[in-house]
Amino acid sequence: MRSTQIRSLFFDFFGARGHHRVPSSPLVPDDPTLLLANAGMNQFAPYFLGAAAPPWPRAMSVRKCVRTVDIDNVGRTTRHATFFEMLGNFSFGDYFKAEAIAYAWELFTEGYGLDPGRLWVTVYEHDDDAYRLWRRAGVPADRIQRLGAPDNYWDMGVPGPCGPSSELHYDRGPGFGREGGPAVDGERYQELWNLVFMQSLRGAGEGLDYPVVGGLPRPSIDTGLGLDRLAAILQGVDTVCETDLLRPVLTRLEELARRRYPGREGGEVSTAFRAATEHARAVAFLVADGVVPGSTGRGYVLRRLLRRAVHRARFLGVTGPVVPELTAEVVAVLGADWPELERRRDTIAEVAHREEEAFDRTLRQGTRILDSAIGRAVAGGRTRLPGETAFELHDTYGFPVELTAEAARAAGLEVDRDRFADGGPGMSDDEGSHLISSVERGESGPWTCPECGEYAVESGQRFEQGRVVGH
Ligand code: ATP
Ligand code: MG
Ligand code: MG
Ligand code: MG
Repeated sequence: MRSTQIRSLFFDFFGARGHHRVPSSPLVPDDPTLLLANAGMNQFAPYFLGAAAPPWPRAMSVRKCVRTVDIDNVGRTTRHATFFEMLGNFSFGDYFKAEAIAYAWELFTEGYGLDPGRLWVTVYEHDDDAYRLWRRAGVPADRIQRLGAPDNYWDMGVPGPCGPSSELHYDRGPGFGREGGPAVDGERYQELWNLVFMQSLRGAGEGLDYPVVGGLPRPSIDTGLGLDRLAAILQGVDTVCETDLLRPVLTRLEELARRRYPGREGGEVSTAFRAATEHARAVAFLVADGVVPGSTGRGYVLRRLLRRAVHRARFLGVTGPVVPELTAEVVAVLGADWPELERRRDTIAEVAHREEEAFDRTLRQGTRILDSAIGRAVAGGRTRLPGETAFELHDTYGFPVELTAEAARAAGLEVDRDRFADGGPGMSDDEGSHLISSVERGESGPWTCPECGEYAVESGQRFEQGRVVGH
């Protein structure tokens, strides 16, 4: 089933059940506390809260989402993208759990024809209602797992509506990971659809540490079904990059690189193919929604994705312009479904050209400096590259720290991590993820690191390698 059909089947199904279609909100949200739309229900918060009367009791949409928290997963897992489309149905104080669960089951098994024997369900550990309703729908007890708040309780990260959730997963078989259900392996048991039972109100607090301060006036429903992931399952391909949403872009990259994408088992080469492909789509959508490359906030997210795409393509051996070519393919593939891509075709091409050229200059200049520093270290019989070199390259020339680390490793050197951490951005991927996720909450600082609660941050740029200066 083509992705266009997947979308229209969703709208036919929920349209026939009284849902009003609302357009996707732009990636740049109205909400100044949110960097980029990452789930797309934010526009509906006032309806859930009862602060505004919803114009329709039921709604449905396909929403554009960007999640920079997933950046390090892209190309490494089969299921993560930084930009993806999320289908969803909503009830604003109208139907609740029973209908939401019955609809989801019917659409999956009868609409999309997914094998019920491969579907697994997770529910919030204390949500006996949801458990009972899935049993009633016909899901056997051994394919329902109860999970805790990190997986199956949902909130917006700020005071507002919240509630337990329940998710539908598809078992892709032993070739994709360990058995034991979604609680054990998220790659094998691919999470497809998240149903949120919005019923409470959360207060202030960090992470999962917040009080529930009351109930919503009327329980509501918010769901998110990943189009990219469902397309991968229905099209029988291994990763989101091989669906009809992205495969033509991957093919274009194969042409430019003059080599074949080696498939899921292809190690770093496959990862690079998928990351460059996926990032090019995110770049096209961000530019289409008016984001301009820059050194902070949204502009920095765009720049970072674009640079990663260039870097991965260079790794694959593409020497000429690559992002303009890939984004042109994105417009060709998705322009009919997302007309803003067509409208902004020229701007997308222009931004891609300009940024790629500038980045290539940075790469050339930085590589010269780095090569001579590595040469000096090797000649001097040292095993480490001074942290100051990496910091200076990053701070003065904008040279990505990961490239410094890679080149040093290739020459048999370590980067002096301790001194590097004192003087500049560090390199841990874990830190990358948690700090970048804090940037998603707002465009300008200062922020406090959500993990340690200590470090105020000045600008998005300081997150290049997920480490704050002085962190
Ligand atoms: P995962 O656990 O696999 O990272 P999630 O729990 O973070 O997913 P939700 O926040 O529940 O995802 O989002 C709702 C749906 O959106 C998911 O069930 C999935 O289908 C889709 N989705 C989430 N993140 C991504 C992503 N990075 N790329 C593609 N689809 C995604
Ligand atoms: Mg996730
Ligand atoms: Mg999940
Ligand atoms: Mg989820």
